[in-house]
Amino acid sequence: MKIAFYSTKPYDRTYFEPMSAEYDIDLHFFEVPCNEETIPLAAGHDALCIFVNDYLNENMIGRLAEMGIKAILLRCAGFNNVDIKAAAKYEMPVLRVPSYSPEAVAEFATALLLTVNRYTHRAYTRTRDFNMNINGFMGMDLHGKTAGVVGTGRIGQAMINILKGFGMNILAYDPYPNKSLDVEYTTIEQLFKNADVITLHCPLTPETKHIVQAKTIELMKDDVYLINTSRGDLIRTEDLIDGLLQKKFAGVGLDVYEEESGVFYEDRSNDIMDDENLARLTTFPNVIVTSHMGFFTREAVCAIAEVTLKNADAVQKGLPLENVVLPPPDEDL
Ligand code: NAD
Repeated sequence: MKIAFYSTKPYDRTYFEPMSAEYDIDLHFFEVPCNEETIPLAAGHDALCIFVNDYLNENMIGRLAEMGIKAILLRCAGFNNVDIKAAAKYEMPVLRVPSYSPEAVAEFATALLLTVNRYTHRAYTRTRDFNMNINGFMGMDLHGKTAGVVGTGRIGQAMINILKGFGMNILAYDPYPNKSLDVEYTTIEQLFKNADVITLHCPLTPETKHIVQAKTIELMKDDVYLINTSRGDLIRTEDLIDGLLQKKFAGVGLDVYEEESGVFYEDRSNDIMDDENLARLTTFPNVIVTSHMGFFTREAVCAIAEVTLKNADAVQKGLPLENVVLPPPDEDL
């Protein structure tokens, strides 16, 4: 089986290359992202493998079908970047890695929270300058405060466990509450009103797009902390910036960003930043932006490679496809 592997980074090769030999799979690594211009590179392959900031719309999937592509392999959990309905129309299975290490992402969300709360990102540079003044770095005890967890799936649950370890009270919102969890479910409005820390762990869907926007920011407590490790479009960036300017937030940690595609994962340090919102966000002393790296642990990357290659192997051997993404059942194809 030949796979066109888009958006390749050195660490992808490190984990995927040795494992692919075990499955008799031939990976062709392309550094370019998957987009309208680069889709012809998929010709001559049986499948393509893409990552979070690659995308496949209906037109591209139609072109892939003409090339005889048999499957789309996502080496990530989220699938908002692929037109699932179009893939079903062309009978092209879309396979993903539903769970690799929810703890990796939850631990990273916690790192963002602790960083913006206790200013370790700024303390690091101050002490290197031999500036031992701690003025401006006062944080908040997490113990006894309320965390609002939006989305109580795998990552949300891992986050709840960590936050409970800090002695926080947990409020949760999920349209499909998990009764086995020892948390108080509430409405999204009540969560926004009562949480001292809000952490987003829901997928990007039409319902969750801009779940954080001017109206919902208004509901939040003053001096709230907001953490987003899910998808950038959950937050309307302009409204977040307005909220920051109005000093609504004590701290904001973002591992994802609305316009991250083409920017995140790239070294653009010699370029002028032409995204005004990203430029503005990076100027706030109480905001930390990271480059969609919540997943980035050895364990998670290893598990991603293993499950992606197992998914590919199931396609090549005609085995049941465990990790296939199905379109919503009521969708009219
Ligand atoms: P999951 O499918 O296990 O859980 C998602 C939960 O969100 C489910 O319980 C679902 O019911 C809930 N949900 C659905 N619609 C909702 C809504 N409108 N409001 C609130 N909750 C809603 O997924 P997961 O593995 O926990 O991953 C969550 C998200 O994290 C993924 O969708 C992905 O976007 C993101 N993610 C980010 C990274 C990273 O590196 N930063 C890595 C992996 C996943």
